[in-house]
Amino acid sequence: VIWLGQPEHSVITTCAYCGVGCGFKAEMKGNEVVRMVPWKDGKANEGHSCVKGRFAWGYATHQDRMLKPMIREKITDPWREVSWEVALNHAAGEFKRLQGKYGKDSIGGITSSRCTNEETYLVQKLVRAAFGNNNVDTCARVCHSPTGYGLGQTLGTSAGTQTFKSVEKADVIMVIGANPTDGHPVFASRMKKRLRQGAKLIVIDPRRIDIVKSPHVRAEHHLQLKPGTNVAVVTAMAHVIVTEGLVAEDYVAERCDPKSFGEWREFVARPENSPEAMAVATGVPPEALRAAARLYANAGNGAIYYGLGVTEHSQGSTMVMGIANLAMATGNVGREGVGINPLRGQNNVQGSCDMGSFPHELPGYRHVSDSTTRATFEAAWGVEISPEPGLRIPNMFDAALTGSFKGLYCEGEDIVQSDPNTQHVAEAMMAMECVVVQDLFLNETAKYAHVFLPGSSFLEKDGTFTNAERRISRVRKVMPPKAGYADWEVTVKLAQALGYPMDYATPEAIMDEIAALTPSFSGVSYQRLDELGSIQWPCNAMAPEGTPTMHIDKFVRGKGRFIITQYVATDEKVTRKFPLLLTTGRILSQYNVGAQTRRTPNNQWHSEDRLEIHPHDAEERGIKDDDWVGIQSRAGETVLRASVSERMQPGVVYTTFHFPESGANVITTDNSDWATNCPEYKVTAVQVMPVMQP
Ligand code: SF4
Repeated sequence: VIWLGQPEHSVITTCAYCGVGCGFKAEMKGNEVVRMVPWKDGKANEGHSCVKGRFAWGYATHQDRMLKPMIREKITDPWREVSWEVALNHAAGEFKRLQGKYGKDSIGGITSSRCTNEETYLVQKLVRAAFGNNNVDTCARVCHSPTGYGLGQTLGTSAGTQTFKSVEKADVIMVIGANPTDGHPVFASRMKKRLRQGAKLIVIDPRRIDIVKSPHVRAEHHLQLKPGTNVAVVTAMAHVIVTEGLVAEDYVAERCDPKSFGEWREFVARPENSPEAMAVATGVPPEALRAAARLYANAGNGAIYYGLGVTEHSQGSTMVMGIANLAMATGNVGREGVGINPLRGQNNVQGSCDMGSFPHELPGYRHVSDSTTRATFEAAWGVEISPEPGLRIPNMFDAALTGSFKGLYCEGEDIVQSDPNTQHVAEAMMAMECVVVQDLFLNETAKYAHVFLPGSSFLEKDGTFTNAERRISRVRKVMPPKAGYADWEVTVKLAQALGYPMDYATPEAIMDEIAALTPSFSGVSYQRLDELGSIQWPCNAMAPEGTPTMHIDKFVRGKGRFIITQYVATDEKVTRKFPLLLTTGRILSQYNVGAQTRRTPNNQWHSEDRLEIHPHDAEERGIKDDDWVGIQSRAGETVLRASVSERMQPGVVYTTFHFPESGANVITTDNSDWATNCPEYKVTAVQVMPVMQP
């Protein structure tokens, strides 16, 4: 810890890293932050924090920050610094030129979970009102879009059902495809405290993550499945619950749709869905699976927490629905201590979905084909909105390669590093005629940009973030925007340059518009947020202080809907040439593509991505700890150092994806979820061989 001086005043704000959304006091000396102190009244963290929120804020003032707008004609030209006015007029002129030449739908926008709710709302408004199409998407596309689809289909809304505090009343905790110790550390501490008090733990994960066996915590069951077989496991658990008479019959009869339940019950009871029949595919011993299903069903209070190991699969949406089926069948939704809890990875991924940054949905998860919803926004925005969903991110890439998508406004998202199959993404970017990147740094995506607009960090702007428990918290400006404008102001100015009359005095005015147009936010205002500290949506006349637990008397959609979850093996199969399965994840001190944490002291704890490999697979290939290894897939190849580890099961290897030079996404394929196109990051067939140090 570096002593930066005695603070003179402090400002309460919210961490800009993970979906826990910890409250912090930014302690200031003049306009400089000297310390980030976890806020004891923050409801998500109650005075706790992790090494990211506490120590990794220095990227905001890092020398790599880009503070001048820049333009260039071709991506091979050097950048030329220009004024904001020139850059914005150039971008607007190019977008108009492209629409004139190639049509209204030839351009689009991408927003990010790094953005505040207010900024994300403005990006989708800019695309819908100023571009005149629905070609807007968000980085949730590559993480929790299956959560949106799966929970929407079964429960009626796309959000976690509980507060974090609810875990304190859980009797059995089931963690599926999530590594809370590294990904959501402050919540993991809360979970471990409950486990130390006697709650039982089931972990479903291909890798032996920390929580399986850590001091004072032991999982009762670790179902160490083969990557890509989640749906087989959840369906087999449902088989046990149905065939052993463990269904909460009264709950289901009162709260769920009887037709869908009857069809689901008949489906899961089939012999081909038994743990024994699924064992070859999953690699999970049937008795362990049966015991885990019994434990969850008889829990009293059974709570499910899941992460990207559920969603980032070709059957990601199916798995989310499978989880909802299990929870409904056992009566584990609608009170404290239970529920379905997606552990959202990023600080505002929940908010970016809530704010309508999907090509098919307006704010509040209302489909663009709904004429009443469209009429509401059309009246407020003074434009006509297309009833047709726009392009998702991967569709934008495909359309760029076929010549029909030519221009992109990308705010706060490094799609070239974070999206799968980097070569494919790069080719698509090169096929576009105008790429506008708005970011703190000249990231990988900026290499393909024609206009660069400097972004602002969370310390330089007002707004709100919404965490994984639907909790809306204030982000407060502690220093002026280093490049002159906050991100929301840049979007406003771009809209104006395009000729659309967008105008707000403050982010508070944007939130007032969101609240006026979005029923689940109708009771949200900065004044209420200041009074209450934070608010969990829905917040309206019926729930003026917000809603900690959802679906208490009935599901948002009315009757809970069961969906049949037929297991379909992924196309990504091991072969003689690619005999191992690669899966990916995060580590505690780094964050996602590392653009922030790599520029902070956190880099000292983890300064490279490594390949974890089981001792058996390592020995077979003559690989020892620290050796350099080449990893080859159907999509590409890269080189990392090896860590030989018994966390892995034989046949499965693992890496993090925090460093651009590691190129983890050079080897991931463009397979994706059938319903949402969320990439299948978690299953890539690879070969691993020792190589010389690069
Ligand atoms: Fe809290 Fe997550 Fe920030 Fe850590 S990274 S301080 S757990 S919000």
